[in-house]
Amino acid sequence: ALDERRPPLMLSPEWRENDDTHRAARRLEESDFPALPAKVGIAVDAGPTPLLGDAAADFRIERDDTGALLVRCEGRAMGTRVESAEAAADLVVKLCRWFMESGGGQARRMGRHRAPLPAWARQDAAPTAPCQALALGAHPLGAVVGLSLGRVEAASLRALVTPFEDCRLRVTPWRRLLVTGADAGRLPALFGVITEPGDPRLSMDACPGAPFCEQASVDTRAMAARLARHQASSLHVSGCAKGCARSRPAAVCLTGRGGRFDVLINDRADGEPAARGLTEPDVLDYLEKLGALHL
Ligand code: SF4
Repeated sequence: ALDERRPPLMLSPEWRENDDTHRAARRLEESDFPALPAKVGIAVDAGPTPLLGDAAADFRIERDDTGALLVRCEGRAMGTRVESAEAAADLVVKLCRWFMESGGGQARRMGRHRAPLPAWARQDAAPTAPCQALALGAHPLGAVVGLSLGRVEAASLRALVTPFEDCRLRVTPWRRLLVTGADAGRLPALFGVITEPGDPRLSMDACPGAPFCEQASVDTRAMAARLARHQASSLHVSGCAKGCARSRPAAVCLTGRGGRFDVLINDRADGEPAARGLTEPDVLDYLEKLGALHL
């Protein structure tokens, strides 16, 4: 289905009032887009530090190594250099129109669309390499906190911002929030809010699981919570082999099947299980014996 709404914009969480990221986003919000496949999105990452290079998007506004702005399509290594934030936004809209006119509706995502780019979308600039996710703790704009499995109770969120005047929440692609105007030294201790960089919950991924997804037969989040006190370099609990929450391999990956778990080691959810059909206690026994929780 095509989506008549404006495509979602993902902004660098470090944007500032009237900088290039902000100005490009405002221009995009005022622009007329064609109807696009529902998942098509735009990343606006025009700050001095590139942050969104690993986040999913179809069209990107970025910078090259010289600091010049460029517009790049997902799946293409090079982009088109532009003179201003407004020109970047206009080029993104033009590329969205080309995407639909050249059959992108069938491909559904720019990264899968194999049509050659039009001549006016020159391939003359490569983006500079993205930086790591924002570190937890103090940030020039406030403070960064993590959210356990990317969720937080509304009451905890309210309590998080209550001590600070004029603070705002910025959502990031890394299950972390940038709380602008907050003081990292005065953050309250709250259920589900992570403030310590070494917290094992930062290396856990879990999809919604049962009962939230009809493909799932296991409670992924309860299982992840049970394993949270153990230390694994990465843990993925997936309701099925589709692995929506993590596409990369994890040191320990559990996938649900028929109400039980398959266990995969250093693998993705769709890989070859090392053990199959385990109950929750069996999983814990298996991993303890294997020493896998210390991988
Ligand atoms: S991995 Fe499977 S169970 Fe989990 S959200 Fe995706 S489809 Fe649903």
